[in-house]
Amino acid sequence: APPYEDMLSVLTDTRSRFPDRVALTYFGTEITYRELDEFANGVAEYLAEQGVGGGDRVAVYLQNVPQFAIAVLAGWKLGGIVVPLNPMYRSHELTTVLADAQPAAVISSENGWHDVLCEVAASTGATVTLTTSELDLAAEHEGTPLRGLERRRPADTADLVATATARRTATPPSVRLYPDDIALLTYTSGTSGAPKGATNTHRNLSFNAQAFTQRTGSHDGSGMIALAPLFHITGLVCQFGATLALGGRLDLVYRFEPSAVLAALRRWRPRYMIGPATAYIALMNHPEATADDFRSFEQVYAGGAPLPAAMVERFRSDFGLYIRNGYGLTETTATATSVPPHLEAPVDEETGTISVGIPTFNCVLRVVDDDGVDLPVRSVGEIVVEGPMVVPSYWNQPEQTEESIPEGRLHTGDVGFMDEQGWFYVVDRKKDMINASGFKVWPREVEDVLYSHSAVREAAVVGVPDEYRGETVKAYVSLVPGTSTTGEELADHCRQRLAAYKYPREVELVEELPKTTTGKILRRRLRDEARG
Ligand code: ATP
Repeated sequence: APPYEDMLSVLTDTRSRFPDRVALTYFGTEITYRELDEFANGVAEYLAEQGVGGGDRVAVYLQNVPQFAIAVLAGWKLGGIVVPLNPMYRSHELTTVLADAQPAAVISSENGWHDVLCEVAASTGATVTLTTSELDLAAEHEGTPLRGLERRRPADTADLVATATARRTATPPSVRLYPDDIALLTYTSGTSGAPKGATNTHRNLSFNAQAFTQRTGSHDGSGMIALAPLFHITGLVCQFGATLALGGRLDLVYRFEPSAVLAALRRWRPRYMIGPATAYIALMNHPEATADDFRSFEQVYAGGAPLPAAMVERFRSDFGLYIRNGYGLTETTATATSVPPHLEAPVDEETGTISVGIPTFNCVLRVVDDDGVDLPVRSVGEIVVEGPMVVPSYWNQPEQTEESIPEGRLHTGDVGFMDEQGWFYVVDRKKDMINASGFKVWPREVEDVLYSHSAVREAAVVGVPDEYRGETVKAYVSLVPGTSTTGEELADHCRQRLAAYKYPREVELVEELPKTTTGKILRRRLRDEARG
């Protein structure tokens, strides 16, 4: 694909080349590129009438529904900055984020939390609230396929799709976008603190959407199933942006729910997917999942969270598919490293960590010490990322920007190393290091060993205060359904494989581990819990 520097050029090109290809599916509904573009024009026209214009923030508070994509494109068509809001956010998080972003419009659904949103929006000065009815997953579960976007739309609401449909002849607003214009204000999910708004520019986004298509190989017109939520950068760039750049099809399923995903796989037979390791774990452990469900896939990717090497092997032996790891942050507009299609990621012999891949096109990764000095091969230090995918700043936070992104070099807060062949490994997050009697313990290494036990479904390791050692290692584990083991046995499994200061002194078995909506295991919450 030609190297476009803004997302509207990507859309315009794809729409003119493939107007009749299916852009999105949602249960029984299909939307072509022409329709997607026309719907977006309709919504853009409506928003413009409400006074929304260039540089204004347009917030989107929706699950993975077609209206999400329409709203995003409409925002860009006005030269606006789209603010994807995590649909799990409630009044506290909404207040923080809306007060910071000050959106001129908020696009949300009728479902559940609409009133809370309206109240918060009013109190933070957001002036417009459009509503749209989301199509419910429940109908699919009851065996009633959803037929069209018309269904379940209450007649008395200002519905986004109704607005768009009534205005299909709307002319696109004429705005000129520049590569440095901010396309998205993405709030980091806050696994390590209060959310910050990263300013992903049109260059950041179009560059990485197109870069991802290079790593997937050609998938013209073929489908990708959305395991990741669209509000998260992985969903927006690797799912929506990349399929848009290729004229591909994106299959949406409201939100990640293993049985709904399996039903969609059987219906649409997609060839690609990307999601966090926990999504693969959930699919793998679903009682109805068979190898046949996954037969249409060409490439599958994990990204945005640690991927245990043992899981990659388990998925391969169960479903015949090799999961390609990838590393990135909200601030790197999703991918910074990935595993090229013809290669497999090496596993570090010493730690058992699987590599996150090699840097993507034009991305530079360095490993530095505390003074910012480059470290040699295999030395562990902080990962710094530079390139056209790195955001220029945090919204309203010049000090945070200066600290974390000095001169465009992003200090990731992750520690890792590079091997002799140029493969990168993420050891862990700097902040999650456990200090046991002065020894450094990286939770991931212990988690990887736990995952190599066949009864372990998910694992999280944290440090707990200890009178003698300063901190000791504690593990939380959930088990594969139908298996049984004890905490002692799992601790012993680790003791046989790890240095004495690393193995968990306590392994607590739990039903479920706490996670973010993006599927990341929340170590921070477990740590707080362990510390009482
Ligand atoms: P916050 O930055 O607020 O704590 P977050 O962790 O959800 O929230 P993201 O930008 O979504 O923010 O996640 C980026 C982080 O995810 C990286 O810094 C890294 O720690 C982790 N990560 C991403 N990909 C991988 C991977 N392949 N392997 C290991 N860790 C990964």
